[in-house]
Amino acid sequence: MTIRRSSQMTRRAFLGMLGGSALGAVLPNLISSAENTPFRVPPTLMFHTKDRWKMPRILAWLRDEGYESVGYADVLSALEGKSALPEKPVTLTIDDIASNYIQPYFLAMADEVEKVGYRGVFGVVTRHSPTRNPKVWAQLRELVERGWELDTHTTHHSLLPPLSVADLREEIVESAQWIAEGTGRAPLTLIVPYGAVYKRGREFDPRIFEVAAEANLAFVVGIVGGRFIGAESSAPHYVGRVGIGTDHVQTAWWIEHFHRES
Ligand SMILES: [Zn+2]
Repeated sequence: MTIRRSSQMTRRAFLGMLGGSALGAVLPNLISSAENTPFRVPPTLMFHTKDRWKMPRILAWLRDEGYESVGYADVLSALEGKSALPEKPVTLTIDDIASNYIQPYFLAMADEVEKVGYRGVFGVVTRHSPTRNPKVWAQLRELVERGWELDTHTTHHSLLPPLSVADLREEIVESAQWIAEGTGRAPLTLIVPYGAVYKRGREFDPRIFEVAAEANLAFVVGIVGGRFIGAESSAPHYVGRVGIGTDHVQTAWWIEHFHRES
C-alpha cells in the first residue's frame, strides 16, 4: 500500500491530515515514511542568451501543458512546508546577466517570459558593485520589482573548485551582499558557474557549500543530479538543472523526464 502526497498539499498539511485521521493513529509508520519522502525539485531549465530563439516555442509548450513558473523562494517555502507548489511547477533560469552592462537580449528574454505570465530567475555575475555602477543596478532592481528572482552567479564567473576559501568568499559572499544592496532583496541561491561543484569525480567540494552558507544561501545550483532533496538534507541544498535541447521537442522531453536522472 502506498500513499502519495499531493503536490498541492504542503508536507505539514499532509502530515497533519494523516495525524488527525484513524489511519494516522493506526499506521504511524506511514507518517515517518511521508517525512522521509524526498522532495521533488521542480524541473529547472537553464537558458543562456544563445537559446533566445528557442524560448518562445518552449514557453508555448509549457503553457499548453499547464506548467506554472516558480522561483527558488517558492521551492524553499514548499520545502519548509510553508506553502505548496503548483501541480506542475517549472523553474526558468537565465544565466550570465551582469552588473557592469546589461546585454539587451536578457531584457528581451524577460519580456518573452512575462508574455506568457511567467517569471524566472536571473543568475547575476556581479562584476561591478552597486556604488560603482548604480545605473545598471537600477535596471536589475527593476527586474526584481517585476517579480524576477535575482541570484548570484558569482563575482567573476570563476571556476570555483580551484579557488582558495578567501577567493570563494569574494565570489560568493561579496556577490550575494551586492545583490542584496543593489536590488533590495537578498539572493537565496548560488548558481555555480559551469555547474562545477565537484572536488573530484562526483564528490562535492564542501567549501562551496560552507561559503554559500556564510552568505545565507538556501540552494547551490549545479547541472547534474539534484532532482530530489532528501529529508536529511540541510541548507544550502544542492539542486540541478537541464540545459536547452536542440529544439523545443527535445527540451520538453528533458523536462518530462527530469526526475529520472539520478
Ligand atoms: Zn554562466
